Amino acid sequence: MKLPIYMDYHATTPVDPRVIEAMLPYFNEKFGNAASRSHAFGWTAEEAVERSREEIAKLIGAVDEKSGQADGKSIIFTSGATEADNLAIKGVAEFYKEKGNHVITTKIEHKAVLDTCKRLEKEGFQVTYLDVDKFGMVSPEHVAAALTDKTILVSVMLANNEVGTVQPIAEIGKLTRSKGVLLHCDAVQGIGKVPFDVNAMNVDLASITAHKMYGPKGIGALYVRRSKPRVRLTSQMDGGGHERGLRSGTLNVPGIVGFAKAAEIMRLEGKAESERILAQREALRRKLTSKLDEVHLNGHPEKRLPGNLNLSFAFVEGEAMIMAIKDVAVSSGSACTSASLEPSYVLRAMGVGEEAAHSSIRFGLGRWTTDEELDFVANLVIDKVNKLREMSPLWEMHKEGIDLSQVQWAAH
Ligand SMILES: *Cc1c(COP(=O)(O)O)cnc(C)c1O
Repeated sequence: MKLPIYMDYHATTPVDPRVIEAMLPYFNEKFGNAASRSHAFGWTAEEAVERSREEIAKLIGAVDEKSGQADGKSIIFTSGATEADNLAIKGVAEFYKEKGNHVITTKIEHKAVLDTCKRLEKEGFQVTYLDVDKFGMVSPEHVAAALTDKTILVSVMLANNEVGTVQPIAEIGKLTRSKGVLLHCDAVQGIGKVPFDVNAMNVDLASITAHKMYGPKGIGALYVRRSKPRVRLTSQMDGGGHERGLRSGTLNVPGIVGFAKAAEIMRLEGKAESERILAQREALRRKLTSKLDEVHLNGHPEKRLPGNLNLSFAFVEGEAMIMAIKDVAVSSGSACTSASLEPSYVLRAMGVGEEAAHSSIRFGLGRWTTDEELDFVANLVIDKVNKLREMSPLWEMHKEGIDLSQVQWAAH
């Protein structure tokens, strides 16, 4: 077993060797510009791009309902999901602003959605940020209650990147479709891991990115529904009119080919892989919670990403844990800003207390996580949590049965 161990698959993933192999010819041998219409170099690149669109469309259920053919044209390539989120939200807002100026999203979205919505607010749009319950779940009833006749877009993620909670997209989609409001879904974390189907779920726009699913960094896509309803967008990048005029710029052909290979692997193997990873995650959770007291699960116990285990170890600082287990790459529930350590806004929105948020660790399991690694990680964490707690006077008091919330601390 090699150290350090990677257990941060929500942040990014290694590229699958099969993906690298598929990409290689497109760097030198088949290096053409997909927009070159006048020669074979261009045609070869264009063919690869069009095949790739179809493969990616297939993974998310973007198929023509009449012919059953993958609707490749609904896939607009971008530099990643940040750009796809920006294009979806700003593009819809700008195009439909005469129709309405209201957008609904949630408090636990990725910053690519939240900061884009904040930008819209500065430009005069109204944005409703929905609360979530203690499991990080958005309620379709809350979405329904927030809709007004000025609402043009609802944006809800498929699965949260910190706590793994999987949202009721199908129910939200049924609602938005019945009201004639567009639904955007940042589907990055859930793609290939939990069910996602843009037709079955009535999703009109979906953001995805290759590097969270064993493809390369710097390539992603926005799915844009082409019929029933046909979604219109104002482009955010001007230039040569690539991607149906929605995203100008020479296409990253090797990246696109790699993205499609990653999508194909997910389509064929994702289900079995998720079952294996879920079993591994549950084994890790059981081991940690049976050997340690006061360990709390953040997020939904069942409706969560198979590879996500977000735990709070009471009386242990997350940052101290990360230092103590530095042979293991994980993330904590605190975001290190310049001066202060702020608890994650996702955990805060779920009502997790400041202390529990600061003591949270996100374990992200993935394609190459082994049982041997999990054993090592579990034993290491158990050992370090015990050691860190031994040094904590609060843990001593807690063990003596003192209710810490009732203690009157001397002023200092
Ligand atoms: C990683 C991530 C993004 C950003 O994707 P990039 O391709 O890195 O820009 C957006 N949304 C979610 C939920 C993510 O996890």
